[in-house]
Amino acid sequence: MSKDWKEIESNYYMFVVKRQPIVIVKGEGTYVWDDNGKEYIDFTSGWAVNNVGHSNKYVSKAISEQANTLLQTSNQFYTVPQLKLAEILVENSCLDKIFICNSGTEANEGAIKLARKFGKKNLNNAFEIITAFNSFHGRTMMSVAATGQPKYQDIFQPIPTGFKHVNYNDLEEIKKATDDKTVAVMLEPVQGEGGVNIPDKNYLKNVRKWCDENGILLIFDEVQTGLGRLGKLFGYQVFDVEPDIMTLAKGLGGGVPIGAFLAKDQACAFDPGDHGSTFGGNALTCSAAFASTEYIINEKIVDKVSKMENYFRNELNKIKNEFEIIQDIRGIGLLWAIQFNSEISADLVSICNDNGLLTNPLRPDAIRLMPPLTVSIDEASKAFNILKKSLDKLSS
Ligand SMILES: *Cc1c(COP(=O)(O)O)cnc(C)c1O
Repeated sequence: MSKDWKEIESNYYMFVVKRQPIVIVKGEGTYVWDDNGKEYIDFTSGWAVNNVGHSNKYVSKAISEQANTLLQTSNQFYTVPQLKLAEILVENSCLDKIFICNSGTEANEGAIKLARKFGKKNLNNAFEIITAFNSFHGRTMMSVAATGQPKYQDIFQPIPTGFKHVNYNDLEEIKKATDDKTVAVMLEPVQGEGGVNIPDKNYLKNVRKWCDENGILLIFDEVQTGLGRLGKLFGYQVFDVEPDIMTLAKGLGGGVPIGAFLAKDQACAFDPGDHGSTFGGNALTCSAAFASTEYIINEKIVDKVSKMENYFRNELNKIKNEFEIIQDIRGIGLLWAIQFNSEISADLVSICNDNGLLTNPLRPDAIRLMPPLTVSIDEASKAFNILKKSLDKLSS
């Protein structure tokens, strides 16, 4: 006999997110199942987390072996999974050093602290960080302050200061905002939560150049774009621009909660005692993240994503031509948004649910598609058929 989980939620859980009325009990690859045994194609991936698919065998084996060996020691000691993860991420990126934490917002907190310390040490106490409107950097107070969306800030005033917000994809605004208090520019290579906003080809390159000319740091928040989502291991590679600091989380752990920030040697301004974490670099989460990262590299997942990107572009363009309500499709790798010319996303997501496809209501007038990076053409084709059927139903 199954309990009424929805009622239990409304009785006991703080109401902070409008959930879809589905209780997910199992996942495998691109599929999940609810408590009635109904099957869904999952184009949400736990919010761009399940890059290697649900219950990836390689990752779950690593987790169960580690769970039977050692879970947690604190950072008072060396542990092997943490160091293996550090090595694989540094060796496969342009960054030199890493700090491992537990989530995306924590990774950004660390990156911001690192930049502030860099300013103290090297830039005459400069502390201000330029970030973009419509960015999303997380839910802790400093990340909320960094996030350029007033709706996340106003209710928590006073929030920490030290950020200037500028329009994304506009170099002139960054130039105007830069002064002798500026220590860094912090951007997502592609804005995820803010709408899957893709910058012009040379924007990030020109921002890099500006940062170099002014001796300030470039921080990339790759919490959503990292670990293959955009068709390269990291988003910066898509735009051929190297950041001084990069933050990761979401897809890093193959499903377990983990985050990290990495920096070039010259940006590593921390001294012993400046930063830390009890759980950060925990043996269990690191063994999962190592297995997931190794899987992405060994299975050449990024090459598959590049191929799938073309398939998505073609199929979504066809769907766009078929349905007048679609204003625009935009995406890169396996991070896509469908923009509608009216506020249909709640209804569409709900019909898609009924038809067995999970999507993300990004905005009242846009949905986001972010399947596991292991999705096959067959599965994607099935998903697009459900999407078409659901759009048909909506317009009938
Ligand atoms: C999701 C997200 C975060 C926050 O990550 P959490 O793990 O939820 O704290 C930060 N930055 C970006 C770009 C994100 O997409």
